[in-house]
Amino acid sequence: MAEIYPRELIVDETLPNSEQFTVTAVDGRVGRGIRARIHFERGKRVAKFAGMLSNTVFQHSLQISPATHLHDPYFVGLLSHSCAPNCVLDMQRLEILALLDIGPGELLTIDYAVTEDTLYRQFPCDCGSSHCRRWITGRREAVNEAGKAYLTDLNGKLPRARRSAR
Ligand SMILES: [Zn+2]
Repeated sequence: MAEIYPRELIVDETLPNSEQFTVTAVDGRVGRGIRARIHFERGKRVAKFAGMLSNTVFQHSLQISPATHLHDPYFVGLLSHSCAPNCVLDMQRLEILALLDIGPGELLTIDYAVTEDTLYRQFPCDCGSSHCRRWITGRREAVNEAGKAYLTDLNGKLPRARRSAR
């Protein structure tokens, strides 16, 4: 068994380890992700997490308060986004909670807009959820120019609604 975090960040023996999770490549598109290796029950704690406090948004940071971010490039900062996630973060207790039953091999996902006012980088989403927002922003920012262009292009590719005959 190996710890996921480097030794200097391990302040607590309840932090995640390699019997519970694997850090994995995710279809080459979103980089790395975290996969469960064991079963986690809906509503229960999946893991505690740690990191370095910062006043800056990093690619792998999560927001604790408007001016405080937790930078964790080892574990929680690697969680994948989904518009219909199986996990949610408690940024006060620094815990991941299961929204659904999670089985071995499943990718842990969160909705980035739940914790982040502004993302390090907005990005397109194709998570497969029927509620997929297609372009992901923080909860307090507008879709940027790249996102507007992406969404316009995407709408152009959808089949046109048939006009009613007069
Ligand atoms: Zn989505």
